[in-house]
Order: sequence, then C-alpha cells, then structure tokens
Amino acid sequence: MDFPQLQAVLEQIADEVGALPGRGRSADYIPALAEVDPHRFGMAFADVDGRVHGVGEWQVPFSAQSITKVFTLALVLAKDGAGLWESVGREPSGNPFNSLVQLEYENGIPRNPFINAGALVVTDRLQSLTGDAGEDLLDFLRAESGNPELGFDLEVAASETAHGDRNAALAHFMASYGNIRQPVPTLLTHYFRQCSIEMSCADLALAAGFLARHGLRADGSRLLTRSEAKQVNAVMMTCGTYDAAGEFAYRVGLPGKSGVGGGIVAVVPGRGTLCVWSPGLDERGNSVAGVAALDRFTTLTGLSVF
Ligand code: GLN
Repeated sequence: MDFPQLQAVLEQIADEVGALPGRGRSADYIPALAEVDPHRFGMAFADVDGRVHGVGEWQVPFSAQSITKVFTLALVLAKDGAGLWESVGREPSGNPFNSLVQLEYENGIPRNPFINAGALVVTDRLQSLTGDAGEDLLDFLRAESGNPELGFDLEVAASETAHGDRNAALAHFMASYGNIRQPVPTLLTHYFRQCSIEMSCADLALAAGFLARHGLRADGSRLLTRSEAKQVNAVMMTCGTYDAAGEFAYRVGLPGKSGVGGGIVAVVPGRGTLCVWSPGLDERGNSVAGVAALDRFTTLTGLSVF
C-alpha cells in the first residue's frame, strides 16, 4: 500500500473511532494514569524500512506499561535463548493480567511472559543477564526508535510502587518456589520503572519493527533468529491481550500487545508494525478505541496474518 492510501486509511479510522460511544476508562489502580483523558487518540504505522505514517496524537508520549514486556522478552531470548521457557510457560492464561490463581497449581511457573507474573520472571532474568535491565531496555528502545530522549517516568513508577501490593504478592509467591533470583524489592523497582517508560505511537511502532522484519533490527543486524521472531509473534497473538486474546485475534487477526496506559502494538509480519493509543480501557485492561482502530485497519486493508 502506498503512502496516500495508507494515510487516508488512518484518517478514516481516526474519524470512525472518534465517533464511537463508550470509550472506556483510564486505568485507575495506578493513580498517575487515572488522570489521563480517556478520549485521547493516536495511531501510527511503521513499514519495515522505518517509514512512519500517523494520525491524531501519534507523536505524543504515553505510558508504555505492559507493551514493554515484548521488548524484555525479546532481549532475554536474544541473550539467553530458549532456557527462559523452563521458568515461564507460553499458554494463554484465560485469567486477568494480574491474577495469582494459577501460580499455586503450576509450582510458581507463570502461564506466559505477558501476564504480570511472567513479565516479572522475564525482568528478573534480564536483570541477571545484564546487571541493569532498565538501562539495557532503554538503550535498545532508543536505538530502534531513533529517539534518544526516551526515559522512565519516575512519577508513574512511584505512583505504581505505592499501589504495587498485587505485583509484590506475585513476585514473593514465585520467589517462594525459587523462580525469582534477586530480592523482590529490587525486582519490583526494575519492573515498575520498565512499565513507566514513556513512548509515542511512532516510537513504539518503530521499536517493534524487528518483529515485522523476522528478527532484524533497524540497522540490519540480527536480534532474534527468524524462528524466535515467529515465536514471540505467536505468543503475542495468543497471550498479548490477556483474557481477551481470543477476541483480539478474532477481531484484529494480528499479534498484538496491550498496556494499561492505553497503547497496543500490533505486527504485520513482513510489512510493518502498528501502534495505537487511547487511554480508555475495557474491563480486561485493553484500550477500547485501540482494539476498534486495529479491527478497522485490518478490515480496510486486508493486512492480517489470516
Ligand atoms: N504496570 C502494570 C502492572 O503491573 C502493567 C499492566 C499492564 O499494562 N497490563 O499492573
């Protein structure tokens, strides 16, 4: 699809989604996120050569939250290969992203790397591998997005820390099974900082480009093998939107990863990456307008994996 067509599609989607009734509510369990207007909207498409097209607030930074879990997973796989899968599963959980219930039945092994329990294990491993998971992640994101300004939003991280009992419980519970290697308070500091990274739709679409390029980074060097990139995309498809992953696959037909900041990244393998942002969430923690926009994108363009 050429530029004018793509731009027209994005503009049509922004018009349609702007007219949607019931756009959900901003995340309220992290007070700093509750203040963000749920009606904001931006969307960007980055092609595999790094050209970006956008509409609405596509250059406005927002809280990336769980979208960062895609990047930590990729970095751990790149550094350490498949060993991670001994500590984290890759089945959809069918439960909310912050659920504790399965951990006791499965010996402290989280169902997948995208629910909070699994993401805590991945961040713990990245920390063991690099000595500073947050800086390693920021270096990667800055390089891939071409935006050297990317950083943590320490106010959001502090706000989440003050209300972080659920994540602390998950981490302590897994630690009791020996599935967390560093002291839990240290891990939580890294995890909340990771989630607080501020990025725009353009930054996130570019940073996820390696997933559309079958593992190749923006500079052409290889981060993941072709097979690993396929695996990350597959886990995004089955687990990236938590207990709504089936509905997301049905409506959008792309690997996707959401965050409670209201962002969703989606991958069109071989073609490009999308990021949409609108902070109003549904009851499962996914952006209402974001899912609707991606649904319209794949319907209008036919760009889906099916
Ligand atoms: N920082 C958030 C949490 O751990 C991330 C959750 C999300 O984006 N789904 O609760």
